[in-house]
Amino acid sequence: MKISNTLLLGLGLASIAVAPAIAADWSYKGPTGPEHWGDLDPKYAMCAKGLMQSPIDLVDTNARGDVSVFTQYRPGPLTILNNGHTVQANFAEGSTLTSGTMQFNLLQVHFHTPSEEVKDGEQYPMVAHFVHADASGRLAVLGILFELGAANAELDKLIAAAPASKADARNVPGVTFNPNKLLPDDLDVYRFQGSLTTPPCSEGVNWHVAKDSVSMSAEQLKALHGIMGDNARPVQPLNGRLLVAPAG
Ligand SMILES: [Zn+2]
Repeated sequence: MKISNTLLLGLGLASIAVAPAIAADWSYKGPTGPEHWGDLDPKYAMCAKGLMQSPIDLVDTNARGDVSVFTQYRPGPLTILNNGHTVQANFAEGSTLTSGTMQFNLLQVHFHTPSEEVKDGEQYPMVAHFVHADASGRLAVLGILFELGAANAELDKLIAAAPASKADARNVPGVTFNPNKLLPDDLDVYRFQGSLTTPPCSEGVNWHVAKDSVSMSAEQLKALHGIMGDNARPVQPLNGRLLVAPAG
């Protein structure tokens, strides 16, 4: 998961994203890869020391729950960027995720190839992370796993507009993007407490990952992977935390 520093500042979360100019560069391989994130910068200490890190393997669990989780996403103008780690679309106000008694506003969606979350050890070609925040700055993410199959027409809008290299957010004239088209019909989710999956790996994130995947074509995967490369953090230990599987 990657959130722009500007966005975090706007949410009053400056403490976990201070001084981006001097924060260390990080990547997905080599000396600045995930195994080293915690050593690259004191601000990234949680990447190494955190006990509730993301992503995780969604394994069978004794905990099952039917807490109501639903989205009310609205189609809107397409605003897209490439932050050097992922392709991301930003959303205007007005779309929400409700999880139990909590309600969060949809901020952005971004992608990881291959998937970060893994189901019973199985990695998927891609995952979409829908990032939300509530009025007090608490974060919630909804993860949607993609499998290879039929092309997703809505995804084509993102692919056509995605900057091939690092680029600031820009509006794509004449394009309306509907985030609902990236969701499965049934939103039965795994729920757990976790972290940002990118430095600074801050914890306290309310994670939801849909049990049902959606499809994308091999060509679509090739296009997005061609831009982002491998950008998945390896799975992290559960460390005894509660993982609630969908009841159904
Ligand atoms: Zn992510």
